[in-house]
Amino acid sequence: MDKHEGSAVPQALQQHLQQLSQQFSERLRQELPHLAQLGGLLLEADDVERKRVLLELRHQLHRLAGSAGTFGFTQLGQQARELEQHAERWMERQSRQQQGLNDFISALQALGEQPINASASSETSESGRKPPRHEDGSRTIYILEGEAAIGESMRQTLNNFGYQAEHFNSIAGLDAALQQQMPDALIIDAKLPGEASCGLHYASQLRERLEEPLPLLVLTDQQDDFATQLQAVRAGAMGLFSKPVDIPQLESRLERCFSQQSGEPYRVLIADDDQDLASRYSLVLRDAGMLVEILSEPAQIFAHLRDFNPEVVLLDVNMPDCSGPELAQIIRCNDDWLRIPIIYLSAETDISKQMNALIKAGDDFITKPISDNALVATVFSRAQRARLLSIALARDSLTGLLKHADIKEQVAIELERSLRSGDRTSVVMLDIDHFKRVNDDHGHAAGDNVIRALANLLRQRLRRIDSLGRYGGEEFLAVLPDCTPEQARLIVDEIRQRFAELRFIADGGEFSVTLSAGIAGTDVNSDAEQLRERADKALYAAKHGGRNQVQVATPEEHRG
Ligand code: GH3
Ligand code: MG
Ligand code: MG
Repeated sequence: MDKHEGSAVPQALQQHLQQLSQQFSERLRQELPHLAQLGGLLLEADDVERKRVLLELRHQLHRLAGSAGTFGFTQLGQQARELEQHAERWMERQSRQQQGLNDFISALQALGEQPINASASSETSESGRKPPRHEDGSRTIYILEGEAAIGESMRQTLNNFGYQAEHFNSIAGLDAALQQQMPDALIIDAKLPGEASCGLHYASQLRERLEEPLPLLVLTDQQDDFATQLQAVRAGAMGLFSKPVDIPQLESRLERCFSQQSGEPYRVLIADDDQDLASRYSLVLRDAGMLVEILSEPAQIFAHLRDFNPEVVLLDVNMPDCSGPELAQIIRCNDDWLRIPIIYLSAETDISKQMNALIKAGDDFITKPISDNALVATVFSRAQRARLLSIALARDSLTGLLKHADIKEQVAIELERSLRSGDRTSVVMLDIDHFKRVNDDHGHAAGDNVIRALANLLRQRLRRIDSLGRYGGEEFLAVLPDCTPEQARLIVDEIRQRFAELRFIADGGEFSVTLSAGIAGTDVNSDAEQLRERADKALYAAKHGGRNQVQVATPEEHRG
């Protein structure tokens, strides 16, 4: 089995591909004469024997048609495909016409005698888009907004969310800043009053100038102006927001842009009975930054799915022990793996056969010979979508946080860890104040926005090692390892202040919201549920104390 590794150095990859190509040439030197030999057998064979030989020939030609092109032997691949179709017609018609048979045999012999050149070219070096990586720490956001008041309030709010935001009034100002340092994302007003060129025009030019595109969000006057939307998308926009801008919603979109960029490498499982081909696909995908495993034993499929947890499965259609569609059906019989896209790699060009395979199970077809770019692009897009969906399924859909049961489990895990290590761990219960009024006065959608904004704020402000979940409707539960209740109180109180400063917009009107929180620290007497209950009691005290405040559970409260 091929172990997964990180991406190869391009030069090393080139050498590897060259090696594989040479290996494949060696194989051709044996396979092609063998094909010619089989052709010879057809002449003397009786009906039964002829059928067996034709079957064998068709199988071999099918493999050759699929692999030769991938290794750069394009013409040979096409010849093999024509002969394969020829063999198929022969089998269907059971034709005994001597002339046709003679032609077929001579073509096979010509195939067997052709010189094999190992230096067949390949297009590998231009592998696909590598998802850009980001370093840790806070992200820099540049805002280009002509109206000073809007730009300034946006800057402040984004800073509250933990970003390093800077605001520019003019294209010249932004341009100068871009010369100094590239931000992690750009927010640009589509129309800039007082500028000769509009914001979108500038964004388009910038996109052409930059090697790697920056995440771009665009501010518009009316969201329903289709021409502006189209122009924005052409400039590379990943989000459009009409004024007055709901900044927490905009912040949500920024989060999503970043999480798409900075993810782990995609994991791909390949099953192809042709080892050379499988190695080649694996190299190409690894060069594009993915992790790859090759399945050599179909019976091992579930062990691979469990241990490697692939995000895409690539299956050859024709394999000796178990066909691709059969393997796909085995995978699809099990609900645990429903989310994994299955892509067939096949030399099958007959559309109705492709459709047949897809109807049984599977999501897509790539026809061999497969160009490296097509392979990378197809796998990349499928993997990206699969990961987005799987994150969405595992998390609370509104906030992207852990769900109720998972965050409770996390409290138990962290409590145990802290008892072992002797660190103090704190548990926090948070609840939005008078949230019913938000729904009543501004509508349920506005309420949802507030919940999402608090989730994002918490995510930004807490550390990576902290766990955070949506405990109920507008209630959140967090676990802060290696953090005393007093330290937790400082952190949570700062979050409380930032949250109160956020301005939400609904039906043209602005409003703000507050929260209350209760904190409890681990001790040897409490189990996970008792710990959470103590935090909940402290939250209750905060509500009764007048809301918009943070309370820490006292040990007395605990014993009482
Ligand atoms: P308190 O300060 O005492 O917490 O007052 P409250 O109004 O927040 O009281 P309560 O916790 O009883 O009300 C929570 C409300 O939150 C009730 C429910 O309709 C609403 N809610 C729960 N889940 C959601 C949600 O997902 N979206 C929206 N918009 N509202 C929700
Ligand atoms: Mg509440
Ligand atoms: Mg509540």
